[in-house]
Amino acid sequence: MSKKSLIVMKRFDSKGMLIIPNPVSSESICKSKQLLLIKECYCQNGHNMISNKAIFNGFAGIVIRVRRGNEEGLVALSPVYGYKSRVSLNVCLFDDQIWDICCPQCNVILPVYSSCACGGNMIALFSDKEANFANCIGICNRIGCFNSGIQHSNELLTQTMISDFNTMEPQVS
Ligand SMILES: [Zn+2]
Ligand SMILES: [Zn+2]
Repeated sequence: MSKKSLIVMKRFDSKGMLIIPNPVSSESICKSKQLLLIKECYCQNGHNMISNKAIFNGFAGIVIRVRRGNEEGLVALSPVYGYKSRVSLNVCLFDDQIWDICCPQCNVILPVYSSCACGGNMIALFSDKEANFANCIGICNRIGCFNSGIQHSNELLTQTMISDFNTMEPQVS
C-alpha cells in the first residue's frame, strides 16, 4: 500500500470510519490485511443508516431505501468499503436501472453529490450529522455500476487509491 493512502486511511478513524483488520482470512478472497469500515453514515436529516439488522462479516450494514416509480424496497450494503456485497428486500434490482436512494427512516431522497461517468448519479451518504458534502460517501445509483468514492475533508479518496486495500471481485446478490 502506498504511504499516502495509509495516511489518508488513518485519518478516517475520527470521522465515522474505522480501519479494521481484515476478518476474511482466505488470501484468495481478499489480499489486504486492513479494510476501511464505515461505522456511521447519515441522511441529510441526521438519521444513521447503519443498522445491525443487516450484518456483513460481523459488521452492521448500511440500510437504504430504494424507490423507482411505485416500486420500493430496502437494500443493505456492506459497510466495508470496496466490498460489493448487497442484499435487497422486497425489490428486484436489475443492472442499468437507476433508482432513487432514500433514508429508510424519513424517506428523504439522498442528495446527488456529482454525476457518475456511467450516466447515473453519485448519491451522498454523509459521514457525520452536519450533512456537509466535504465529508461523505458517494455511491452510484445505477445498478451494476460499482463506482463509489469517499470525500473526506474535501479530499476525494477513490477506490483506485485504496485498491491495494480491497482487491475483492464485485459480488452481487
Ligand atoms: Zn432520514
Ligand atoms: Zn455509475
